[in-house]
Amino acid sequence: MSTPVIGVLALQGDVREHLIALATADAVARPVRRPEELAEVDGLVIPGGESTTISKLAHLFGLMDPLRARVREGMPVYGTCAGMILLADKILDPRSGQETVGGIDMIVRRNAFGRQNESFEAAVEVSGVEGAPVEGVFIRAPWVESVGAAVQVLAEHDGHIVAVRQGSALATSFHPELTGDHRLHGLFVDMVREKLEAGSL
Ligand code: GLN
Repeated sequence: MSTPVIGVLALQGDVREHLIALATADAVARPVRRPEELAEVDGLVIPGGESTTISKLAHLFGLMDPLRARVREGMPVYGTCAGMILLADKILDPRSGQETVGGIDMIVRRNAFGRQNESFEAAVEVSGVEGAPVEGVFIRAPWVESVGAAVQVLAEHDGHIVAVRQGSALATSFHPELTGDHRLHGLFVDMVREKLEAGSL
């Protein structure tokens, strides 16, 4: 069975933690900062951080258009927190000039769960993740206001959507890379492996 090569967009955020989580989930994991590096991966994680900063840096590094193109072509992608915002086709409260990569037909509200000092942890049942609930770490986390028909809602917290999937694109409001529980990374590695085995990359 092929071992997927999965990149972590390394412009800002918990890059190291994602690399470790992916390696633990049996992928070859590499940081991605340049278009040539993006071209070599089978899938990509977009970490949390600050979505406006990540989108500005992506432009600066010449990555925004290649990212959009690969996501449009069906490269598996997983966005956590700010990464979820970057995968939204629409942001409810964008900063002026804030752009996204897009890929998931959803409207996301930034900082929806409150400010930095209102960050929290909560047990979240995620559909497709076997066993006990996932410990969700929410840091100035967004939530999903609404989704289109093609989007599968995987989890809710307090009545708000916090995990979604559309085809090969996965997004969570929370940060699974910080907990040592790598089941969500495992789910993503399986998505990449399925895509590779279908020969559609
Ligand atoms: N609130 C941040 C944003 O708008 C996301 C926070 C995070 O990724 N932890 O980008």
